[in-house]
Amino acid sequence: MHVGASPVLVDVEPRTLTIDPDAVRSAITPRTKVIMPVHLGGTSCDMDALVAIARDSGIAIVEDAAHALPTRYRGRLIGTIGDVTVFSFYATKTLATGDGGMLVARDPAILAAVRRLSLHGMDADAWRRYGEGGTWRYDVTVPGFKYNFTDLGASLGIHQLRKLDTHTARRTEIAARYSERLRSLTGLTLPEPMRDATHAWHLYAVRFEKGRAPIDRDTAHARLRDAGIGTSVHFIPLHRFTLFKDTSRGPFPVADRAFDEVLSLPIYPDLSDEDVDFVASEVRALWST
Ligand SMILES: *Cc1c(COP(=O)(O)O)cnc(C)c1O
Repeated sequence: MHVGASPVLVDVEPRTLTIDPDAVRSAITPRTKVIMPVHLGGTSCDMDALVAIARDSGIAIVEDAAHALPTRYRGRLIGTIGDVTVFSFYATKTLATGDGGMLVARDPAILAAVRRLSLHGMDADAWRRYGEGGTWRYDVTVPGFKYNFTDLGASLGIHQLRKLDTHTARRTEIAARYSERLRSLTGLTLPEPMRDATHAWHLYAVRFEKGRAPIDRDTAHARLRDAGIGTSVHFIPLHRFTLFKDTSRGPFPVADRAFDEVLSLPIYPDLSDEDVDFVASEVRALWST
C-alpha cells in the first residue's frame, strides 16, 4: 500500500490455512503484480501451484516467511523458491535478534535496490566507506528509508543461527509429542505440514471444530488459562481489520471458520516433555467434562 498497490485478499485452504491457489488464480487480473503467500505457523504454502500460476501470468512471488525459518518444500528451503522471500527476527520468531529480519532474492538487481532503499538511498554503507580500501564518496539515488539491519542484531543473529537446527529439532519433537497425545480426541484437528514439506513449528495450532468438539475454542482458552497454560489465537483474518474493511471482497468462509476454531498451544525449544504432557493432559481433560 505504501507504493500505491492495492492488496486483494483471498481465502486460505482448509488444511494448512495457507493461501488457496485456486482463489489466487481467480483473483488475478491484468493489473496483478505480485502474489504474497504467508507460510503460516511454519508450514509451507503450496509452492508448486503458486509458481505455476505466477509463471503463467508473468507475475512475481514475494513470500512472507516470518514463520518459516527453516521450512523445506520438496527438499528446497523456503527462501529459494519465490522471487523475494522475507524472514523476521522479531522477539517471537524462531530466530530472534532483538528486531529486524532478512530478505533473500535471486536477482542481484533486486538485492542492490533493497540494500540502497534500506539505508537512506545511499549506495555505500559505513563499512564500505570507512573500512579497508573504502572511499568516503557515495551517491544518493533514490529516496530511501532507515530499514537497515543493525550490527548489534547481526552479532546476536550469528549465534542464534548456530542454535537453529537444534531448536528446530526440539520444536519438531514437541509437536510430535503433542500430536501423539491428542490424536484420539474427536473434533480436535491437529496441525500437519503441507504435503512433501517440513514444518518449522513456529506455532502448534489445534482446531476445536464447531459441532464436533465438546467444547468451543473460547471456553478451552479460558479453561487452559485457569490451569496456568498460556494459549493464543493466531491470527485475526486480515479482512476483519479496519484497514481492509471497505476494500476486501469476501466472503472468506475458510478463514472465518478457522478464526473461531484455532488455538495455539505453547511451543518453544525450552519446553520440557513434562510440560508438554501437562498441557496435553489438560487439553484431554476438556473432553471428559
Ligand atoms: C512477525 C510477522 C511479520 C512481521 O515481522 P517484522 O519483523 O515484525 O516486520 C510479518 N508476517 C508474519 C506472518 C509475522 O508473524
